[in-house]
Order: sequence, then C-alpha cells, then structure tokens
Amino acid sequence: MRDAELVVRGGTVVEAGWSAPADVFVAGGVVVALAEPGTPAPGGATEVDATGRLVMPGGVDPHCHVGFTSGDFTSLDDYTRCTTAAVFGGTTTIVDFAIPRPGQAPADAAYAQRAKADRGLCDSALHACVVEWDETVPDQLGALVADGMPTVKMFTTYRGETMAGEDTILRTMRTLRDLGGMVVIHCEANHIIEDTQERCAASGRIGAEHMAATRPELAETASVAEVLAIAESLTAPVYFVHQSTAEAVELVAAARRRGVPAFTESVAHHLVLDDGNYDGPAPERFVCCPPLRSRQAVDALGRHLFTGEITTIGSDHCCYDVAQKESRRTDVRAMPNGLPGVETRLPVIFSEYVAGAGLPATRFVELTAANPARTNGLYPRKGTLMPGSDADIAIWDPAARWRVSAGDLHMATDYTPYEGMTLTGRPRTVLVGGRVVVHDGVLVDPVPRGRHLSAGPISLTPALGRTAP
Ligand SMILES: [Zn+2]
Repeated sequence: MRDAELVVRGGTVVEAGWSAPADVFVAGGVVVALAEPGTPAPGGATEVDATGRLVMPGGVDPHCHVGFTSGDFTSLDDYTRCTTAAVFGGTTTIVDFAIPRPGQAPADAAYAQRAKADRGLCDSALHACVVEWDETVPDQLGALVADGMPTVKMFTTYRGETMAGEDTILRTMRTLRDLGGMVVIHCEANHIIEDTQERCAASGRIGAEHMAATRPELAETASVAEVLAIAESLTAPVYFVHQSTAEAVELVAAARRRGVPAFTESVAHHLVLDDGNYDGPAPERFVCCPPLRSRQAVDALGRHLFTGEITTIGSDHCCYDVAQKESRRTDVRAMPNGLPGVETRLPVIFSEYVAGAGLPATRFVELTAANPARTNGLYPRKGTLMPGSDADIAIWDPAARWRVSAGDLHMATDYTPYEGMTLTGRPRTVLVGGRVVVHDGVLVDPVPRGRHLSAGPISLTPALGRTAP
C-alpha cells in the first residue's frame, strides 16, 4: 500500500461473487489491494470519495460494433466516439467485431480493425469472423488465436453478406476447438426468415411497423437447435449472441447440462424493450435482429437473469442515426439493423433489474463484467477488482434518479430507444487504468490510451453461467 497512487475510499466493492465495504488501492494502473475501510494511504495519493456508492469493476461489453459496414450503411462512430460513450455508461472494455466485406479474408479484416484500438479511451478486444470456408481458413484462425483473437463470429442469416453454411460452421467450430478458440454465433434460420419476409411483402406488411412478424421466434429456435447439435457432436464450445427468447436460452441451458460448453448472451434491448414500440410513431428506430419480442417474451427472458441460465449481457451497439433508420423504413429487408446502446447497457439493466426487480448487484457484475471477461479470455485482467487486475472502476450512485435523453448521451447518433425513460442508478465516476476519465458527467481525461487486448485461449467449463445468484 505504501506506493499506492490513488485510493477509492468509503464505498462498497461489488464483485461477481461477493460485496463488502472496502477501499481500493491503485498503483501503476492496476489494483494493488482491497483494504479495510480507512486504511491509511501514502501522502500524495489521490483520494476518490465513494461514500454511499457501489464500487464495481468497469463493465465489459462483449458485443459492440464500431464503425460497422453492412450493405449500404456504415454505423457512425469510431473508436474514440464509441469508447467515450462506453466510459460515460460505466463500461471500460469493449469487444468489437471484424466482419469481412464480401471477398475479404477474415485475418485481413481483423488486423485492419485491430489497428484502430489505440484511438479508444478504454481497452478493446476483437471477435474475428468467418463467412466462407477455404483451405486458407485454418492457418488464418491459427494466426488469429495466436494474436489474441480466439473468438470468431458467425451468422446463420444475411445471405450474400455474412451467412455461413452448416459445413462452414462445423469446420470452423472444430478448428477453433483444437486451437483454444470459440465460435460466437448469430442464430436465425435464414430460409424461414426469407420465406416469412416474402409472404409479408406480398401482403404489404414489410415496413418497419411489421418488423416483429418478419423474423419469427421459431427462426431463432430452429437455428439454435441446429448449431447446438453441431457443437454437441464436436464437443466444441459455442457462445450464442443476443438470444431473445426464453426458449432459445433453455435449449442452450439443457445442452450445458449434458456437458456441452454452450453459453448464452442476451442484450439489453431484448431484456427491457418490447415489440409495442413497432406500433409507435417511429418504429424504424427499434429495428434490430432478432427483433424486439412481445412483453410476455421479454419477461420470460428476464427471468433467466435470476435463474443463472443467461451467461452475459451485451449491448449489440450499432450506432445508426434517425436519417439512416428512416431512409429505408418502408422495407425492413433494406434497413440498417441495430440499436445504439453501448452507453445505456449498464444503466437500463441496473435500473430495470437491480433497482426494479431485486437482482443482486453481485449478479449484475457477473453478467455485465466478470462473465463477459471470462468468455472472451480477458479474465482476471478485466471484469474484477481483485489485486493484479486493471484499475478500471465504475463508481455507481445506486439511488440517482434520471431521465434518459439522447441529447445528454455521447453516442454518435441523435436518438436512443430509451428516450424519456426514468432510470434509477448511474455511474458517477469512472476510472480507466487508474485514471479518472469521467466524473459527474464531465469527461475529465479525453486522451486516448486504449490498447488492443490480446485474449487468452478460451477455457470454459460448462458450469460457467449456471451459478445461481
Ligand atoms: Zn451484433
């Protein structure tokens, strides 16, 4: 403690497995001790007052698209803008995606995106992506895993853009299993979706207000079952992104009980917002894939935060603005899919589930920081405040009441799907690498010091994510 440069004093430390009053001592950008409240600090150490606050590891967002190009649209942020918004929202690590453009090699896409990490205000990691199999893919995957990118995104939808066939999924999963990597996968059965969209279009119901009907729940269920079967036959790890229904979560949970290392991510908007928004005045602002589901489905999904069956919560941040969303609102097949959310992920989940429904704060940290770090090979450097971890710290006022307004947020867009919601709880002071970056709504240290995080091999036990709160 003698050489501590900064101490976070007087708060309640919340970790994934426990919480207790403790002072956090920081030196050289890392936590050096969690100490009895009141433990003396050396003269000259900066004191950050956390009286009455929750002191949590900064959030780890396992699903965040930065400057993402899909079809005719590119989302509007870059690393500086996205990570600034992340830090304001209490998130201090993002995991971005390197999705190849048609014809581009996965490794080329990954190394190009990785080079942008130093523009970030916080650290970032990267999911690579395989769309098509060829004889160069195993060597590319070997290089990516060796270079700290062991997770690889795949899609069962978006024909002609990113959709991969079952044989490509199987080969990629098997190759990654042997390399210590893992497939992370977007599951919606494309044939069912295309057929449903055709029928909707034929009856004039293909505008944004019909979004939910164009991508039915059973398309997700069917695709999850297929991909789980591949993983089970290979005994390969698999991580399902943005699972939007309890049925999909339960398929994965049942496989996990059979010993398959399979994991569920849900994202904030599926846990909070329902398809009633498609009946409102601006349905295009809520167009995402999978779509928002019924209130009954949202509630059933949310219950799995309590049962332990959901492993992580991501944002699926994709920063389009109103003009982009409106430009193709009459045909969801041509719309930019995705919602801005890297800044709101933690506050809306804290408010709805911790303040509003009694989810333990420890489970909140597990879902939003510790497990995202574990499933991405970033733990214990990230997702915990145990000594030796990076001093990325979100100091929360659990009782603050505030109203969400796009004008007060920092994402590179002019709207938020949570506009007008009143929330309870928000991060007040956020440290990155032991430096105060945001304090009381002000960016006090705008210097980009972000690093690309080299993720370790994925070694997951089926037990992860099953711990009851
Ligand atoms: Zn996504």
